[in-house]
Amino acid sequence: MAYFANGTAGIDFEQRYCSRCVHMGPEDGPGCPVWAAHLLFSYQLCNAKEDPGKIILDMLIPGECAMFVPARRLNATKRHEDDRAELERLVARCSEILKEAKGL
Ligand code: SF4
Repeated sequence: MAYFANGTAGIDFEQRYCSRCVHMGPEDGPGCPVWAAHLLFSYQLCNAKEDPGKIILDMLIPGECAMFVPARRLNATKRHEDDRAELERLVARCSEILKEAKGL
């Protein structure tokens, strides 16, 4: 999981990867659901070894982002749209699992 010890480390990651990635999309959003999931839950789950949410976050960003696709490779492919839809489903499921775990 991309856990950042401070804001500078997070900004560095975002500039190195996200700012060049097709999944970040246009400036007016909606942004990348992988990045959003990490911003929302990485601090909370960083020490939760068996938590499904942490396992999912670890799968998505084990170090470098597993979903990183340099924008220069984008040709508005159907595969990208399918990947994004799958990713959004995964993040939504992650959210459901976390809510179930908390009894919400
Ligand atoms: S897929 Fe990964 S690298 Fe790309 S914007 Fe999302 S978090 Fe950043």
